[in-house]
Amino acid sequence: MNFKLSDEHQMLKDLMARFVREQLIPLEPAVLKREAGGAEFMLTADEKKRLDAKSKELGLWGLDAPEEFGGSDLPVVAMVGVNEELARSITPYELPPDSPNLHMMQKTANAEQRAKYLAPYARGETISAIAVSEPGAGGDPAGMTTSAKRVGGDWVLNGRKIWVSKMDRAQWAIVMAVTDKAKGARGGISAFIVDIPTPGFKIERRIPMIGGGSTFELVFENCRIPGSALLGEEGNGFGPMQGRLSTRRIQIGAWCIGIAQRALDMICEYAPQRSTFGAPLSERQAIQWWVADAATKIHACRLMTYEAAARVDAGEEARSQVSMIKVFATEMAWEVVDQAMQVFGGMGMTKELPLQAMANRVRKARIYEGPTEVHRMVIARELLRSKRRG
Ligand SMILES: Cc1cc2nc3c(=O)[nH]c(=O)nc-3n(C[C@H](O)[C@H](O)[C@H](O)COP(=O)(O)OP(=O)(O)OC[C@H]3O[C@@H](n4cnc5c(N)ncnc54)[C@H](O)[C@@H]3O)c2cc1C
Repeated sequence: MNFKLSDEHQMLKDLMARFVREQLIPLEPAVLKREAGGAEFMLTADEKKRLDAKSKELGLWGLDAPEEFGGSDLPVVAMVGVNEELARSITPYELPPDSPNLHMMQKTANAEQRAKYLAPYARGETISAIAVSEPGAGGDPAGMTTSAKRVGGDWVLNGRKIWVSKMDRAQWAIVMAVTDKAKGARGGISAFIVDIPTPGFKIERRIPMIGGGSTFELVFENCRIPGSALLGEEGNGFGPMQGRLSTRRIQIGAWCIGIAQRALDMICEYAPQRSTFGAPLSERQAIQWWVADAATKIHACRLMTYEAAARVDAGEEARSQVSMIKVFATEMAWEVVDQAMQVFGGMGMTKELPLQAMANRVRKARIYEGPTEVHRMVIARELLRSKRRG
C-alpha cells in the first residue's frame, strides 16, 4: 500500500493549487459582491475568457480525456487532487470537459459518436448535460417513465425530465429513457444523445437553485431522433449511467475535502486573532475540538476518496465505497463549514465571506447524484446481502 501521490500527480495538484490561489481566489470578492447586489452567482464573460485562457495555457484542460483527443488520460487518483484544490475556491469555474459524461461516452460511444460528440467534448469545445431525473423519479431513477419507441429507423421520445443542469449552455444531452417497460432497469432503459435544439424537445422552465446556478425542466413531445442517437446497447443504459454517477460521486468526495479544508484553514487563521472574555477563541476547548474533529474527518475522507479512486483505476468494484464517500464527505463538509460560520460569529452570517457559498454548494451535494438516505440504503443493502451470502 502506498499512501503517497506520485511525483507527477503531486506536481499537478500543486499547479492546480497555484491556479486557485492566483486566479480563482482573487475573483471571489467580486463574485460575492455582485451576488449580494442581486446578480447571479457567476463569472462575467471576460472573467471566464481570461480563466479559460490561463487554465488552457497551464495544460489544465482535458486532464482525464483520452490522449487521442489531446487529453492527458490521467487516472481518477490524479483527478482527486485536482478537484480537491479546485473546490477550495467558491469562484464558479470548471475545467473542461466535465468528467462524468466524458467517462460514460468513452465506455459507450461508437466510432461515429466518438468523432461527432466525444472528440470536441474532450477538447473542451462543447458542453453536455444529462437528463435522468423526472418529476416522479429522482432518487429512484429506475422508476423513470420517459419512453423511447422505434418508429421506422428512428426513435421517438416522450416524457418529462427535471433538475437537469447546464441546459442553458449545452450543445447536446444524454437522455435516459425506457425502451422496454417490462424489463425496467434490468435491460429496459437506454441512453440517447439528443442535439440541442431538436424539434419536439423543449426547455419548459428554468429553476433557480440555492447558492446560484439553475436546473431545467424538459419536455419531450414526439421528439424524433435518428437511430444513430442510441448510445451504447439498447436496454443497457442503466449500468453505464451508474458508472457515470460513480465518477461524479468520487469528484464530490474530492470537492468536499477542498471545501472543508478551506473552512478549517479559515478557522485556524481567525480563531487566534479573535479574543472574547479575555482569551483568544483558539484557546477555548469548544473551538479546539472543532478544529481537531474537522482535521480528523478531512483526513479520513481523503483516505476514503483516494482508496475508492485507486479501486476504480484498478477496474475493481467500488459501489459501496463510493456511496460511503457520498454520505461521509457531504455530511463532513457541511459540519465543518457550519462550524466555521459559527466561529466567525456575525461575520460568518454575511455574504462577504465565502462560507455561505460553500455551505450552499455542499447542501446541494447532499441531494444530487443520489440523496444521502438512498446511499445509506445502498450501503446497508449490500452489507446485509453479503452477510446472508456468507
Ligand atoms: C443542484 C442539482 C443539480 C442536479 N442536476 C441534475 C442533472 O443534471 N440531471 C439529472 O437528471 N438530475 C439532476 N438533479 C436531480 C437529482 O439527482 C435528484 O434531485 C436526486 O436524485 C433526488 O431525487 P428527487 O429530487 O426526486 O428526490 P426523491 O427521490 O423524491 O427523494 C426525496 C427525499 O426522500 C428521501 N428518500 C428518498 N428515497 C429514500 C429511501 N430509499 N430511504 C430513505 N429516504 C429516502 C431522501 O431524504 C430524499 O432527499 C440535480 C439536483 C440538484 C439539487
